[in-house]
Amino acid sequence: MTATTPEWTREYDVIVAGSGAGGVTGTYTAAREGLSVLMVEASDKFGGTTAYSGGGGMWFPCNPALLRAGAEDSVDDALTYYRAVVGDRTPVELQETYVRGGAPLIEYLETDANLEFVPLPWPDYYGKAPKAKLDGMRHTMPNPLPVADAPEYKDLVRGPLDVDRHGADTPNDMYIGGRALIARFLKAIAAYDNATTQLGSPLVDLVIDDGAVVGAIIEVDGKREAIRARRGVLLASGGFEGNDAMRAEFGVPGVARDTMGPATNQGLAHRAGINAGADVDLMDQAWWSPGLTHPDGRSAFALWFTGGIFVNQDGKRFVNESAPYDRLGRDVLRQVDDGTATLPFWMIYDDKEGEVPPIKAANFEFYPTQDYRDAGLWHTADTLEELAAKIGVPADALAATVARFNEQVPTGVDPDFGRGDEAYDRAFSGGEPPLVTIDQGPFHAAAFGVSDLGTKGGLKTDVAGNVLRADGTAIPGLYAAGNTMAAPSGTAYPGGGNPIGTSMLFSHLAVRDLAARA
Ligand SMILES: Cc1cc2nc3c(=O)[nH]c(=O)nc-3n(C[C@H](O)[C@H](O)[C@H](O)COP(=O)(O)OP(=O)(O)OC[C@H]3O[C@@H](n4cnc5c(N)ncnc54)[C@H](O)[C@@H]3O)c2cc1C
Repeated sequence: MTATTPEWTREYDVIVAGSGAGGVTGTYTAAREGLSVLMVEASDKFGGTTAYSGGGGMWFPCNPALLRAGAEDSVDDALTYYRAVVGDRTPVELQETYVRGGAPLIEYLETDANLEFVPLPWPDYYGKAPKAKLDGMRHTMPNPLPVADAPEYKDLVRGPLDVDRHGADTPNDMYIGGRALIARFLKAIAAYDNATTQLGSPLVDLVIDDGAVVGAIIEVDGKREAIRARRGVLLASGGFEGNDAMRAEFGVPGVARDTMGPATNQGLAHRAGINAGADVDLMDQAWWSPGLTHPDGRSAFALWFTGGIFVNQDGKRFVNESAPYDRLGRDVLRQVDDGTATLPFWMIYDDKEGEVPPIKAANFEFYPTQDYRDAGLWHTADTLEELAAKIGVPADALAATVARFNEQVPTGVDPDFGRGDEAYDRAFSGGEPPLVTIDQGPFHAAAFGVSDLGTKGGLKTDVAGNVLRADGTAIPGLYAAGNTMAAPSGTAYPGGGNPIGTSMLFSHLAVRDLAARA
C-alpha cells in the first residue's frame, strides 16, 4: 500500500485490473457510462481463465436470450434454488443481487450490436434442490464470432487451451466460448475513445489517501508507474490459484500446477486489497473438478465421461462419476482430507471406445497415448486382475467392483453412488442413465487427480462491489469482482456459468456505482 501521494504519470476516472470476464465488462460499462477508463492486464494476452472456457457460459436466469428461446422460469424460482444450494454461507443480499442482476445486465449489453448472447442449455448442478432448472435454461453463452469480424484480436486473446498447452496455432475461423466473449467485448470497448487497454501491466499496489483508494501502481518492464483513479479502482484480477505460497497460506487444497487458471493469476490484487484494509472470506475455496493427469504432470479439468468408473486405492468405487465437476471434486477432496482416499485415483474402462479414456471434454487435445504410458499414467491389461497389479490396487476388490457395477447397468440405477439420479448426470447420455458396462477387454486405467478452475475466495464486498473492511464499512474507491471477490456462491457451484456470470455482473454493478458518484 502506498500511502503518500506519488507523482502521477496519468489519470483516469477508473482503473480496472484484469481483462477476464469481469475486467472487460467493467471496462466496457465505464466507457459506455462516459467515464475515462484504463484496463491493465498483467499478462501479454487478454482474457484470463475466461478465455480458456470452451463455453464461456453465464448463469443468468430469465435473461432475454433465454426468454426469446422460450425458457419457462421465474427469477423467484431461480432465487429459491440458489438460496437452497448456497445456504447462509454468504450474505443473502449478495445472493439476491446476483440472481436478479443477470437478466438486466444482458438486456443492457444486448443494445450494443457487438454483444450477442444465445442459450446453451446446461442443467443446474444440484438437481434435487427446490426449483432446480433441469432443462438447463438458466445458462447462456456468447454467440461465436467469426475471426474475420475482429481479426486484430486473434493473437491478443488468450487460448484456446491447446495453444498454451500444446503450442497449437490460434484458430483462424471463429472465436468460440470465452474467447468469443472477450473478443466481442474488446471490439465493443474499442468503439469508445475514452477507454484504454494495456497488456503486460500488473497492478502491484494501491495508492491510499485519507483512507480512500485514489490510484494504482502498475509495473511495466520492471518499472513502477503511479496512475491516478479519480473515482476508483476495480480489481477483477481473477483468483490466486497460480500462487502456491498463497494457496498454502490460506489452505486451498492442491497445487498451482493443477489449476486451469493462467500463471498470471497470482493474487497480487488480493494482496493489494488486504494491505488496503480489506476483509476476506472463503479464502480456502476454489471451483473444483476431477483432473485427468497428463504427461506434463498436470491434472486438468475433464468432464463428459461416456464410460468407465472411478476407483480408489482399495479398488473400490468412491464417488458418483457423473456428478457435476465441482461436487465430484469436493467429494474426492473430502475423502482425501478424512484419510479414506489417496491421490491419484483411477478411471477404469474397457475397450469399447479404444485405449483412450472415454472423456469427451478434456478441454484440450490428448497427448500421444504412448506419452501417458511412458509416464505411468495409462495402463492396459487383458484381465482386470492384471490391470489391478499394474495400478497397485487389490485384484479381488477391483474385479468385484466391476462385477457389481456391471450388474447394475441393466437396471439403470446406481444404488451405491446415485450415478444418473440427477439431470446433469444424464446430460451427456441423451437423458439415459450414464451407466456403461466394463466387459470388453482389454481393460484400461487412467490416472486422475484434482484440478481447479480458479480460487473463489477474496475481498468481501457489498452488493455494489465496494470492498469492505472487517468492521463492515466500505473502503472508498475500491471495488472487486469475480474471483477477486469472496464469491456469493460460497462453498457451492450452483450451476454452469456462475464464475463468469458473477465476474461480469459485479464488475458491471461496481462501475455503475462508480459512475453514479460525483
Ligand atoms: C476450461 C474451462 C472452462 C470453463 N467454463 C466456464 C463456463 O462456461 N462458465 C463459467 O462461468 N466459468 C467457467 N470456467 C471458470 C471461469 O472461466 C473462471 O472462474 C472465470 O472466468 C474467472 O473470471 P475472472 O474475471 O474472475 O478472472 P480471469 O478470467 O481469470 O481473469 C483475470 C485476469 O486478470 C489478470 N490479472 C491477474 N492479476 C492481475 C493484476 N495484479 N493486475 C492486472 N491484471 C491481473 C490475469 O492475467 C487474467 O487475465 C471455466 C474454466 C475453465 C478452465
